[in-house]
Amino acid sequence: MTNIVCPYCKQVISDTDTVCPYCTTNLVKNDYSKYLMPVGAALFVLWIAANIAGFVFLQNHLQVLTLKDKNNCLIFSLAEYIQLLIQPSIVVCAPYVIALIKKYQIKISIACISMCIILLMLFISYFIHLQKLAGI
Ligand SMILES: [Zn+2]
Repeated sequence: MTNIVCPYCKQVISDTDTVCPYCTTNLVKNDYSKYLMPVGAALFVLWIAANIAGFVFLQNHLQVLTLKDKNNCLIFSLAEYIQLLIQPSIVVCAPYVIALIKKYQIKISIACISMCIILLMLFISYFIHLQKLAGI
């Protein structure tokens, strides 16, 4: 028997405990859930960073929006951009959705999903604004 620190209340407990005697958290059930939030947060930061980098690039290279291929189609249309934005955002939301379904950290999950949706809306409206600036 060795002593470990409860990941929830930081009290020293035994590694044979299935329920923390201090905060009564079920340690077996939550063993898996403790990875959900960090994974979600890491994906979220990556997603935001990629979008900000994209916006900075587009602001400095607005002509990208009006580039056409040999069939005279827009290389980078609004629909394609929104698709590029929504697909990773589904991945970003996934850990929070799982946490919500499994009833782990429900308030944080709802807050994170709402934040993803709000940021997605902001990014899409920003891109619509850029497309208007580019004169499409
Ligand atoms: Zn505890």
